[in-house]
Amino acid sequence: MDIFRILTRGAQVKQGKTKNDYSLKEDKHDDNILYQVEKETDFFHTKKHNTSVNNKEVAKDNQDDEDEIPPLELISEEDAKKFRNLHKSKVTGSDIPIPIGSFQDLIGRYKINKRILNNLIDANFTEPTPIQCESIPITLNNRDLIGCAPTGSGKTLAFIIPLIQQLNTKVDKNYGIRGLIISPTNELASQIFQELEILTKGTNLSISILSKSLANKINNKIINSNKYDIIVSTPLRLIDLLKTGNLQFNRLEQLIIDEADKLFDQGFAEQTDEILSHCNSTIRKSIFSATIPSGVEEMAHSIMKDPIRVIVGHKEGAAQTIEQKLIFTGNEEGKLLAIRQMIQQGEFKPPIIIFLQSITRAKALFHELLYDKLNVDVIHAERTAKQREEVIKRFKNGDIWVLITTDVLARGVDFKGVNLVINYDVPQSAQAYVHRIGRTGRGGKSGKSVTFFTKEDDKAVKPIINVMKQSGCEVKDWMENLGKLSKNEKKSIKQNEIKRKKISTVPKIIKQKRKQKQQMIEASKKRKAEIDN
Ligand code: ADP
Ligand code: MG
Repeated sequence: MDIFRILTRGAQVKQGKTKNDYSLKEDKHDDNILYQVEKETDFFHTKKHNTSVNNKEVAKDNQDDEDEIPPLELISEEDAKKFRNLHKSKVTGSDIPIPIGSFQDLIGRYKINKRILNNLIDANFTEPTPIQCESIPITLNNRDLIGCAPTGSGKTLAFIIPLIQQLNTKVDKNYGIRGLIISPTNELASQIFQELEILTKGTNLSISILSKSLANKINNKIINSNKYDIIVSTPLRLIDLLKTGNLQFNRLEQLIIDEADKLFDQGFAEQTDEILSHCNSTIRKSIFSATIPSGVEEMAHSIMKDPIRVIVGHKEGAAQTIEQKLIFTGNEEGKLLAIRQMIQQGEFKPPIIIFLQSITRAKALFHELLYDKLNVDVIHAERTAKQREEVIKRFKNGDIWVLITTDVLARGVDFKGVNLVINYDVPQSAQAYVHRIGRTGRGGKSGKSVTFFTKEDDKAVKPIINVMKQSGCEVKDWMENLGKLSKNEKKSIKQNEIKRKKISTVPKIIKQKRKQKQQMIEASKKRKAEIDN
């Protein structure tokens, strides 16, 4: 164990001015121990900096880098082979193009638009990641693509860069939508849109996210959907517009399905199918995810033309940057105790995301941790879009340190600098596990994940242990000897939530008192507001 961790063990912790500066305090308060995690810095580094200085420094740094290491150029099949071995990538299909070795490669080989390249440099994207090196030339060669690469490895840019390069041509005003990106959640759609905004700056492209208000305006003929070149959307909103005929895909050239295994899975498959039925079969298609099971690949083949398949790292594996840990808590009560122990031992370092299996349980844990005076908030499907947006904003800028959620946030969302993911409840499949823990250890940074399990999880924990083994995690003897689950068992775990005891250690009487106090505060605030008015 490293010396710093030994020194900082215990309740009174004060670190120096490191990246995630924080301090922990233990306080006695009535009969309950009150834990506070104090914030000292901007976790996610999102506070405004002096950009002119930063840009100069970045430019200088880049200059220095360029002096030292020239951009990597891959010319021959032999270069490609070496590159793929190095990054443990497997690329299969016919006529596979040679990957790019640097973004500069795109100038000579694909005459990439200077603005797009400048936008990349301005955003500090200096070197392409392996999935970007492979996907960009494949798409620019107009080929269909199945792309599988670990969480946080840059799949978004892998589809955005070639998409905007191909569509950045002059067309008539109101020509029609030519590019479509679909994502399973609004949060992910808006994140993709933000990245799209950065990269299309100064180009002729008109882009939009299909928000509720835009959908209304299109339906009420206030806005013509044809004015957009590229739309990012979740499936349902799109289908509603397609059905009314107020949005059409007769000019669509490119379709990207992000988190494809989710969008081909139960609950979404029908919607995805409906969208596909509105698209001309000749359009170019890409699907991306960190987990693409063979069934999904088969479906993809049925809608694609001679696709190229790129797999970076272990198919369906967790990102190598994540340290994974499993904790047996005995029973449900043991989970809250485990969290409190982690706090005491200095292992509860914000920003943290905690996943639970249901909305009810997420709400219950939220109230429980609020009681511990931890700086928490919760996101689940019952919260309004506005509330969800607000919580995400506050989590991103460091005002909330512990975000409690359900699988609704397990996919794609990129919070920079999450230190720890806790699976309070065992995820219901290996895929769900890989995506949940993939909220940390992103963009090459390191991260940690902890999964709690109880007696009830003896079966559900097996797929998680498999992922851990594949990732090279140290596993205990008993884990080595676990039998495999049958297909039916896996299906049953995925479809049926494990029944669990309610989350609570706070006696009812204290909860009632707390509620009364809260109601009194709210009533007095209301009264004051009425008097002020
Ligand atoms: P994925 O979709 O594979 O989970 P994302 O596309 O969300 O990953 O990217 C993860 C993070 O890495 C994001 O913060 C993104 O801005 C960053 N990133 C992507 N490509 C690059 C690059 N070429 N250089 C530096 N950072 C990158
Ligand atoms: Mg993604």
